[in-house]
Amino acid sequence: MRWSTGSVKPSVAKADLLVVGITGQDDDRPRLRPWRDLDKTLGGLKALADGQVFDGKADKLHLLPGGRTAAAWVLTVGLGKVKDLSPQSLRKALAAASRRARAVGARTCVLALPWSDLGDMTAEAVARCCVEGAELALFRPGSEKAKTGKDAKPSPKSWKLLVPDAAIGREARKGFVAGEAYAEGCLFARDLVNRPPNKLTPVALSRAARAMARREGLSCTVLGEPMLRKLGMGGILGVGQGSRQESKLIVMEFKPRGVRGKLPLAALVGKGVTFDTGGISIKPSANMHEMKGDMGGAAAILGAAMIIARLRLPVRLLVVVPAVENMPDGDAIRPGDVLSMASGKTVEVLNTDAEGRLILADALHYAGKRKPDWIVDAATLTGSCLVALGHEFAGLFANDGKLGDALRRAGGETFERVWPLPLVEEHHKEIESPIADIQNIGSRNAGASSAAAFLEEFVDEKTAWAHLDIAGPAWTSTASPLCPKGATGFGARLVARAVELLAGS
Ligand SMILES: [Zn+2]
Repeated sequence: MRWSTGSVKPSVAKADLLVVGITGQDDDRPRLRPWRDLDKTLGGLKALADGQVFDGKADKLHLLPGGRTAAAWVLTVGLGKVKDLSPQSLRKALAAASRRARAVGARTCVLALPWSDLGDMTAEAVARCCVEGAELALFRPGSEKAKTGKDAKPSPKSWKLLVPDAAIGREARKGFVAGEAYAEGCLFARDLVNRPPNKLTPVALSRAARAMARREGLSCTVLGEPMLRKLGMGGILGVGQGSRQESKLIVMEFKPRGVRGKLPLAALVGKGVTFDTGGISIKPSANMHEMKGDMGGAAAILGAAMIIARLRLPVRLLVVVPAVENMPDGDAIRPGDVLSMASGKTVEVLNTDAEGRLILADALHYAGKRKPDWIVDAATLTGSCLVALGHEFAGLFANDGKLGDALRRAGGETFERVWPLPLVEEHHKEIESPIADIQNIGSRNAGASSAAAFLEEFVDEKTAWAHLDIAGPAWTSTASPLCPKGATGFGARLVARAVELLAGS
């Protein structure tokens, strides 16, 4: 989709579809003051409002013939009450409008917003949210062409946002660039998670990562099993040894060209279990297919890296993604096995389904050797986190206030929300092993916290580190205007925005 700005009156903007954002009064009746121009050309907007043909309720759509406007059709979209307007309500309104635009076959769209009602949102933020809303809503799962048959209707090819003056236009165009990067990073993550596990093996994931790196200007090295053996990565090799698919460690680096001075180093680590059967501690068969999403953390981190590189954020980046498949076979690790990790620590494996932390341990240790300013890891790590926080929030563990605050603020802005969970000495007690340095599970209680404690064993205590348990929000079984069923791409926008905030401070 191409986004541009224009500064004509809505009634004279040429398009297949003129989308008009209508704010609501306290009783949900539409606020028509910003639309005097349209009242005349549409033959009585006020009469239509009085007849309750449309209103300002959030996400309500009403399609009208273009009348004497220059557009073939006019679509009103409710933005909700002025006092409730937020970045997310704007994204949702644009999501609803762009889906309708596609349904009616509109190729060129013009968007008119009531700027005076948008309050303290900057024009850049408004534009960013509009792009995100429209692009995220039009995502269709199944890019691998697994679904045969007729091609679906095409998406609109251009959007023009009407702005009151040149300064707002400039701000808005900055927002388009950011919005497109953010949306595409999220969609990249969604697409990876939705891919079937026979197509997205660790090798295929590393190929997808390499292709993205080439496109976006990051360097990418993929370490295979011989190299992992040299590095003593018993966690990654142990989890992968029951699978015929070779395990990989994907390493990417990025530094924006032409930026002077010493830039901080952000290390991003993502869990890439391309399919998780549970291993010998095998999972029940119901919904096991959803375990293709156990690389949601890897997808989120790769999506975040894509956004950061695309926007040339002033930060150096190190991306570390361990990619494995967790299968049960004659070579698989057993409950009771002891693994030697890259850091030198030994781990007693009590449950082979707690494999994510084993591969992350080696990846966190690898990332830590570079002494980054921040490490953020994302992982679909524990069912406990899903039980505690549901699908709306990721669990946030942070050993550093500034890093935790950046993630919380980024969560609010992107609506990829996080909630802090505790991590204290007692959680480390949970994973004491009688025969090795630690064991890979604690008791039934506070499973998200004991998993985080396990990871913390592999992070230098002087390094600012945050762990995001995204087991809940990475996947949705109900469609919403912004996302169909399946992968949500959760984490890509969140992590990129947090890095953007940290790099700018
Ligand atoms: Zn597992």
